[in-house]
Amino acid sequence: MAKPKLRIVPLGGLGEIGKNMTAFELGNDAIIIDTGIMFPNNDMLGVDYIIPDFRYLLDRKDLKIHGLVYTHGHEDHTGAVAHVVEQFKGVPIYATPLTAGLIEVKLIDAKLINHTTINVIKAGEKFNVGPFKLESFHVCHSIPDCVGYGIHTPHGLIVHTGDYKFDNTPVDGRKPDYAKLAQFSQEGVMLLMADSTNADKPGWTPSEAVIDGAFEEVFRNAKGRIMVATFASLISRIQQVVNAAQKHGRKIAFAGHTMTENVKMARRLNILKVPDDMIIDLGRANTLEPHKVVVMITGSQGEPSAVLSKLAMGTYRALEVNPGDTVIVSAHPIPGNEESVSRTINKLFQRGANVIYDPILPVHVSGHGSQEEMKMMLNLVRPRYFMPVHGELRHLHQHSRIAVEMGIPEKNIFVVENGMVLEVDKYGVRKGERVPGGYVFVDGASVGDIGKSVMRDRELLARDGFVIISATVDKHNGKLIGEPEIITRGFIYMRDADDLMKQMKNTITQVINSGSSKTATVRTKCKTASAVCCSMRPNAARWCLASSTRSNAGRVGLMHQAPSVISDRGATQRVAPLFYGD
Ligand SMILES: [Zn+2]
Ligand SMILES: [Zn+2]
Repeated sequence: MAKPKLRIVPLGGLGEIGKNMTAFELGNDAIIIDTGIMFPNNDMLGVDYIIPDFRYLLDRKDLKIHGLVYTHGHEDHTGAVAHVVEQFKGVPIYATPLTAGLIEVKLIDAKLINHTTINVIKAGEKFNVGPFKLESFHVCHSIPDCVGYGIHTPHGLIVHTGDYKFDNTPVDGRKPDYAKLAQFSQEGVMLLMADSTNADKPGWTPSEAVIDGAFEEVFRNAKGRIMVATFASLISRIQQVVNAAQKHGRKIAFAGHTMTENVKMARRLNILKVPDDMIIDLGRANTLEPHKVVVMITGSQGEPSAVLSKLAMGTYRALEVNPGDTVIVSAHPIPGNEESVSRTINKLFQRGANVIYDPILPVHVSGHGSQEEMKMMLNLVRPRYFMPVHGELRHLHQHSRIAVEMGIPEKNIFVVENGMVLEVDKYGVRKGERVPGGYVFVDGASVGDIGKSVMRDRELLARDGFVIISATVDKHNGKLIGEPEIITRGFIYMRDADDLMKQMKNTITQVINSGSSKTATVRTKCKTASAVCCSMRPNAARWCLASSTRSNAGRVGLMHQAPSVISDRGATQRVAPLFYGD
């Protein structure tokens, strides 16, 4: 019997930065590498995060998934783990110690920890998952314990880099596994799948070590407290802050739930080294002399619910920013977050803090390799075929250009988007069918209930606000009972619009009280009333009828858009739908 083809099914991470997820199939056997989330753009109102659309895997009832294999602990690689475990109960997980620890925290939170087993692997280890022989190799990135994978298949060796950069002076001292990459190339690599995030950045990405210099400068000069905001998963950065604090005789406190939990977990795994007597709680941080204190906080992306924003707003109870404090924002804004980050920084300055951020000082460097590192990866691995992954389309195309420069024939390079299957057999690699590979929005507890049309409504609401007219109508004579009620949000300031409201009420009363009593006519009358009201405020266009009469004294609702109010952070706070029916 002919060996089944290898099918590579990218379900996320291609054509976007985030929600990385790829399935590898041999006949009916499959593994999945990474199950990430993506953070919403500014125009995805009210969406908490986005997970990959893995409907295809659910539809393939014949497919046996043997394992969820992880490259590293970042959200864009692990964030959807609970959603996937929920659908594929019993499928085991494979990850390095820190990644496993971060995944465990998520699964405990989601009460799904008993539905999988987490197998902890070491970088460099070989292990089998179903018919796939995996060989992990250590790479440097911006979180410890990152690996890429060599995947041995009957049709050749596939190398998946995960997120990487070639950092020769990493914080934890663990250098990239050049030897393993060279060994792969000796064996012959069929296909390389490599991180494209920085494909448009020339040169080399600086080592994490340059941050030490910047921290040193800040710590030497700061007279008051120092607060450092970064990603809670950036354990190596936390270590750098700890080292600087130790050197300058400062104690350290941790603020924010994920930050505190991750620090506990990373210390338990001995990945983060902080002497016991250095750690203080936030209460002590307020009473110690300012120049003896560092506080590590979350919220480097300006997220409203995280510590940094609350400090900027003055709403964080356990701590406040005082004049003379130094705040370091040790992260770059993820595309789309620039606005909220600058707003937060401005507010911190307003409170008298000295805020340090890149490019003021290099207090953050990228965790992804730039063009020269991409060339080096291609030269080390020497693949026959190449598939750029992890990046927007522009990054994937740039990366493919680099591969052409490195001598890979253009016909052997596959720039594909999510859902485009690649097939591999002894003849080579080619494009296969297309499967769904879109977005699934997660909004609070609701997964996938929100689609494009809801998003469109939210955009309209955010732009126009809404108006609801509620009127009680006598079923028999079609006349109004009492006064019509008008509710608006994001439309006009009611207290200053007495005249308009009076006018609207009069119009509604007049229109409804004229003519016959049939329900349909009441509906038509409401439409007429709304049209007349609209003409009073030309920007209040689309009104619609929300309900009609059914009972004796039915209530008629008129609605302009669906309900939503813009809060000051540009995101929306939703108001319960205010449909008035009978
Ligand atoms: Zn990453
Ligand atoms: Zn990533």
